[in-house]
Amino acid sequence: MGKGTASKGKKNKASSHKVCRRCGNHSYHRRKRFCAYCGFGKTAKLRQPGWRNRVRAFNGTKAFAK
Ligand SMILES: [Zn+2]
Repeated sequence: MGKGTASKGKKNKASSHKVCRRCGNHSYHRRKRFCAYCGFGKTAKLRQPGWRNRVRAFNGTKAFAK
């Protein structure tokens, strides 16, 4: 799929994100059916920033890096 109509053809029909009914941000993906902001649809708990970059988030001083 290139840059032309094949890939952009469906972009004018529906926005991919709509307002999330848990966090209220416009981050709920309609087709993937999860919220990019709070993780609604993917996880029962609120998505935390520390879930990624776990080592940096919890070991800021390289406590466990040895
Ligand atoms: Zn959300």
